[in-house]
Formats: sequence, C-alpha cells, structure tokens
Amino acid sequence: MTFEELGLKSEVLKSLKELGFEAPTPIQQKAIPYLLGANSDFVGLAQTGTGKTAAFGLPLVNNIENHAKTPQGLVICPTRELCLQISKDLEVYAKFLKVKVVAVYGGTDIRRQMTEIRQGASIIVATPGRLMDLINRKAVQLHEVEYVVLDEADEMLNMGFKEDIDHILAGMPETRNIWLFSATMPSTVRRIAQSY
Ligand code: AMP
Repeated sequence: MTFEELGLKSEVLKSLKELGFEAPTPIQQKAIPYLLGANSDFVGLAQTGTGKTAAFGLPLVNNIENHAKTPQGLVICPTRELCLQISKDLEVYAKFLKVKVVAVYGGTDIRRQMTEIRQGASIIVATPGRLMDLINRKAVQLHEVEYVVLDEADEMLNMGFKEDIDHILAGMPETRNIWLFSATMPSTVRRIAQSY
C-alpha cells in the first residue's frame, strides 16, 4: 500500500516525500483512511516505534482547516518530551499547509505559551496539568475542537491524570472525535474509551 492510496492531501504527501517515508506502517494503513472520515472515534493499540504519531498526526493536519486561529485539534500526552516530539512531527507533516501548532507543557513560562495561543493556534499539543492551568486562566478556547487525541493514554492514567482528562473532555463540544492511543489496554483505559 502507498500513502497516495490512503486519501491524504497533496500538501501532506509532499511533506512525506521530503521526509523520505516510502510506505505506511501497518497502524498507519489501518488508521489513516478511517481517521480522514468525518466521524471517527478511534481506539488504537500501538507501541512507540510503530509509527503511531504519524498514524494520528497525518490525518489530523490533513483535516484541520487552513488558517484556523482557534484550535480545531488537541493532542494530550503525558510528558514534556513527548509533547515537544509530537509538535515537531506535526509541524513537519504540516509544512505545506497553513496549520499552526503550539506546544504547551509544564516547567516553563506559562505567559509565553499564552501569547503563542493568543496569536493563533490551529492545533494544541499539551500535557494535562498545563492544559488545565490554561483552561482555568481562560487562556485557551476549546469550543471549536473537532479532534482530540489522547496519546499514551495508559501512561497518563498511571501518572494520575484521570481527573484532568475527564475535566478537559467535559468542556468540549459533543461533536468532537476522540482518537485514543495506548500501548496497553488495562481496564482503566477501556473505561475511558467506553465513557467517551
Ligand atoms: P513513532 O511510533 O510515532 O514513535 O514513530 C517511530 C519512528 O518511525 C519515527 O522516527 C518516525 O519518524 C518513523 N516513521 C513513522 N512512520 C514511518 C513510515 N511510514 N516510514 C518510515 N518511517 C516512519
């Protein structure tokens, strides 16, 4: 199978060509055509190294409107390192699109992140604690979010972020799609998938 067959926009295919990705990995083959559809709640069981970031990242940048200033996509992940890695990857996938990615995570100046969001973010990649902080300060608008990715959901629950995730998801439109990725599927993750 080729990336062309999966239904991605030409701008996204162009960035893949530059990256040197030749063929989709198994999770990408299964996830991408489905996630490109309009209504797409999804549970993906995938370890790091399988190409899972591109499995959600490519359809995400593909589906976001060009020039969107209010977030349409939200990626929630457990750590600052992963947050930076995902946002860097999304920027590469979106190189030929007008999609602005902003990373927000703890342990660093929140005011700079607030300014970046104010200047316009189409996709926010966040750790749960910092995102809660920004929501409480009314510094981030989530009413236009269409796609929420929970990456490494099992790790986030292990780290005690269940309440934050519940709170964040409760504040979003009913119409949002949730794409949940996890390396393991314990009952806690299964329950999140069932409730949302
Ligand atoms: P991940 O599972 O998202 O951590 O990705 C693991 C590594 O595989 C990353 O360095 C990606 O850039 C790379 N990768 C992802 N998809 C592909 C692909 N289709 N072809 C070649 N490399 C890929």
